[in-house]
Amino acid sequence: MTDDIALLWLRHDLRLADNPALAAAAGYRRLIPLYIVEEPAPRPDGAAGRWWLEQSLDALHQELTRLGSGLVCRQGDPERILSGLAAEHGADVYWNRRYGPERARDKRIKEALREAGHTARSYPGNLLFEPWTVATGSGTPYRVYTPYWKAVRPRLGEVAPQPAPAELPPLPAGLEADGAPAVADRHPWTAKLDDHWVPGESGARSRLCAFAGAPMADYPESRERPALLEGTSRLSPHLHFGEVSPRQVTAVALACIEEGHHRDGIETFLQELVWREFAHHILFHYPATADEPMDPRFADFPWRDAPEDLAAWQRGETGIPLVDAGMRELWATGWMHNRVRMVVASLLTKNLLLPWQRGAEWFEDTLVDADLASNRLGWQWAAGSGADAAPYFRVFNPVRQAERFDPDGEYIARWVPELAPLPARWRRQPWATPSGTAREAGFTPGVTYPHPRVDLKSSRERALAAWHQLPAFN
Ligand code: FAD
Repeated sequence: MTDDIALLWLRHDLRLADNPALAAAAGYRRLIPLYIVEEPAPRPDGAAGRWWLEQSLDALHQELTRLGSGLVCRQGDPERILSGLAAEHGADVYWNRRYGPERARDKRIKEALREAGHTARSYPGNLLFEPWTVATGSGTPYRVYTPYWKAVRPRLGEVAPQPAPAELPPLPAGLEADGAPAVADRHPWTAKLDDHWVPGESGARSRLCAFAGAPMADYPESRERPALLEGTSRLSPHLHFGEVSPRQVTAVALACIEEGHHRDGIETFLQELVWREFAHHILFHYPATADEPMDPRFADFPWRDAPEDLAAWQRGETGIPLVDAGMRELWATGWMHNRVRMVVASLLTKNLLLPWQRGAEWFEDTLVDADLASNRLGWQWAAGSGADAAPYFRVFNPVRQAERFDPDGEYIARWVPELAPLPARWRRQPWATPSGTAREAGFTPGVTYPHPRVDLKSSRERALAAWHQLPAFN
């Protein structure tokens, strides 16, 4: 066995800068940067995620090639592929750790490689705080966000991000780079995503640079305006695929404070970034929460089975404008504003009384940032059954939410253009439009736009009654 070849197993860390496993492997004489299309995958990516992944791998291959290397791709069982390549090249194996359901498999692979006499090392690349490094005073995992934030805030910035290597060792003789594998659906839906995103490390860097400074400082106000295209960073898919590390984002945010930008604004942004950490903390310590309610009192919740309501919600045809705007934004761009995610999730789980898992599945197929930890936490938060969740009785009123956060009706008009001719006040509740105004705007309820699928008041009462029916809540 020689010690001059390293195998770098890339997963959700598709970047060259601040990549600890890459930094360790780059010291070898030869390097094999490897991506495996895992089969079976513990949780396969959805359609939007596969679109992103293919583009991101292509961008990574270009970058690797520029530095004298290239991406090698394989498809199948990672244990078999890694053991085979490591044995064939006498290679040491490096990767950055994952914290979700893949973890057990990664652990097994490491043990198998070591048993076969290889060096196999993993690194903390994708989170600021690995889940087992943060605990309450009594040594238990956190279940509530604010004390978690208070515990980690002093540690933010304690590890500085590392620059990308200036060059990389070549591939071993006889091994050719393959470039990005074809993993995206050729569904016309995904073609639209090209207009909105630039996957890859340089796209991530551009987003971060554009958001640093004034936009980040203005975040507390602008983040609540779904109509603003730059009100939030839109870094979520880049973070999910590891094209930028949370350390890099934190370092930029802390530098903005140093440069004199409004501290409170940037602290608010950091708090949101730490929600991502919290989500991984919860999923790691309570893995069953990916599929089951964290609060066991919800185990027998009387969810409805109503496929037509689910389909109307998915298509953005519920007749509730803010909800339809969000669902259509998702379908058109692969992303939805956080405020609107909360509203559409509340409508699905409370007014429509459909299981949060159905909503989470749709998001996982259509979001470019679909992330098991953040998505399942978000859905359980909205349903009232998760860690630090909104109380079940808090049912968002989409009309009030639109009044507060889309006061000019700009967001609704953008995504539900058939309502644009109505004055802003009626765009959020078209069913109440006076008939003269409707006629002038050419708006015919139930024809130009659907009647509301549920009455907001009575469906709210139905949801609260369902909740009170559970013995634990009586
Ligand atoms: P910014 O506001 O700019 O925040 C910066 C970063 O902080 C984000 O990129 C993200 O990584 C992190 N972040 C912000 N808010 C949250 C949060 N509430 N939870 C976890 N991380 C957060 N986020 C995902 O990344 N993937 C998901 O699949 C996902 N599903 C969600 C489902 C529901 C029902 C809800 C309510 C929220 C979900 N979120 C998810 C959280 C949040 O909506 C997105 O992270 C955010 O909208 C991404 O936009 P941004 O990058 O502009 O965020």
